[in-house]
Amino acid sequence: MTDKGILIVVSGFSGAGKGTLMRKLLETYDNYALSVSMTTRKPREGERHGVEYFFASKEEFEKKIAEDKLIEYACYCDNYYGTPREYVEEQLEAGKDVILEIEIQGALKIKERFPDSLLLFVTPPNAKELERRLVGRGTETPEVIAKRLSRASEESEGIEAYDYIVVNDDLEECVKQLHSIVINAHYAPNRCAEFINQIREELKEFSKGAN
Ligand code: ADP
Ligand code: 5GP
Repeated sequence: MTDKGILIVVSGFSGAGKGTLMRKLLETYDNYALSVSMTTRKPREGERHGVEYFFASKEEFEKKIAEDKLIEYACYCDNYYGTPREYVEEQLEAGKDVILEIEIQGALKIKERFPDSLLLFVTPPNAKELERRLVGRGTETPEVIAKRLSRASEESEGIEAYDYIVVNDDLEECVKQLHSIVINAHYAPNRCAEFINQIREELKEFSKGAN
């Protein structure tokens, strides 16, 4: 029905489960493509260049900005994060629903530049559970966890800018819910311009006959 794929932004507090959800979504359905961001943050244990992120130095990152090779970028907890342009454009053109898992400043820039993008905000059912997940993940020091939790409080102020809230309580349910939001979004008139024009043209034939 839609002419092209949808540009989907997934944001949410660090530890909300975005990465886990995205993995499951991509495993379950084949209409998605996940954009791999570039970052100046150091890799966590097990993270691979080109898979979780393209890891870069500050200089390399700033060169990409200057060359306009990122569709958005932001500074988050002292590091740069940005979305490489080429992959996103190619995949949308190929009809894939492209997911950007990015924070709120980047999300707002995407909405401004791509008004037909779909903004989803992932949250755990409550704040205590967020802390439990961040601690449980065991990838950050207590100082970084504290910083991310305090950042979460600021981020919660921006939730209204999103199109939908996705509560990640039961993982399987959440994946289904997310997918159904995307499927429904394909039927929004602003994303079906080609179909609408086509049926309008066809209907004109009837009015010709009636006049
Ligand atoms: P994010 O990408 O949002 O920072 P992660 O996907 O790394 O979050 O998830 C943070 C932690 O929470 C991980 O240890 C993950 O296994 C766990 N987690 C994710 N979703 C759920 C869920 N629905 N229920 C319980 N734990 C979850
Ligand atoms: P992390 O360090 O936990 O992998 O990511 C930190 C934050 O940066 C998360 O909120 C994540 O969604 C966000 N992020 C990851 N990639 C990008 C990106 O390309 N652009 C923006 N603006 N944020 C990103």
